[in-house]
Amino acid sequence: MSNDSILSVSKLTKSFGRLDVLRGIDLDVTEGEVIALIGASGSGKSTFLRCVNRLETPTSGTIRFRGTECTAANINSVRKEIGMVFQRFNLFPHLTALQNVTIAPLRVLGQSEAQADKEGMEMLERVKLTSKAHNFPGELSGGQQQRVAIARALALKPAVMLFDEPTSALDPELVGEVLEVMKDLATEGRTMLVATHEMGFASEVADRVLFLDEGVILEQGPPSALLVNPREERTRAFLSRILS
Ligand code: ADP
Ligand code: MG
Repeated sequence: MSNDSILSVSKLTKSFGRLDVLRGIDLDVTEGEVIALIGASGSGKSTFLRCVNRLETPTSGTIRFRGTECTAANINSVRKEIGMVFQRFNLFPHLTALQNVTIAPLRVLGQSEAQADKEGMEMLERVKLTSKAHNFPGELSGGQQQRVAIARALALKPAVMLFDEPTSALDPELVGEVLEVMKDLATEGRTMLVATHEMGFASEVADRVLFLDEGVILEQGPPSALLVNPREERTRAFLSRILS
């Protein structure tokens, strides 16, 4: 592990019964690095991100956050540091946008209502949604709901943000507003791992692209190399499928 890794994944495997989904992933993530995770459906992108956030327990291997191994015992402190945004936003339908953002700071950090509301509005400002603070998810578009979900993940001030295909459930005309917000976060120097099929975003924003193939990182590199001139035939085949 290099010294400036914020996240260090070593020999990570995950099997579901006899299905070996992750088959030995090694990855060091530098503070501030933006990594795009690409690969065919079923290649293990979600499972990998879910292992990093401990929504799944790895079968073997280790994940370290700032040098400390993530285990069942410190799962709550790890989750505070590693926020996650899902394909389906999973907002609480009976809570307003602001309440969705403040619920974790109130319960997990024990913030006062006034403090949580103040910081919650700042988070909504980051995703350009202060005008919808008091609306319920059902009153928001998919893109707006996803931006609330991003604000909610930001509310615990995580050091690392994981995004699992955050725009794939959106109507095409709503994708841009979510990518814009993610671009802003990347520009601020936040460490991000993003599973995505948005090659324009990967190319513009990512420092490094990982191509996941059948549970291994088959190839990785800067977008200018991996997306333009991949080394591996399987990467090339994937890219030509997705770009056609
Ligand atoms: P991706 O996100 O790249 O599409 P996933 O990580 O979702 O890939 O899935 C990888 C493989 O793991 C798929 O074959 C999927 O069916 C399987 N899988 C994922 N989650 C589970 C689970 N909870 N139980 C059994 N199989 C699973
Ligand atoms: Mg997935």
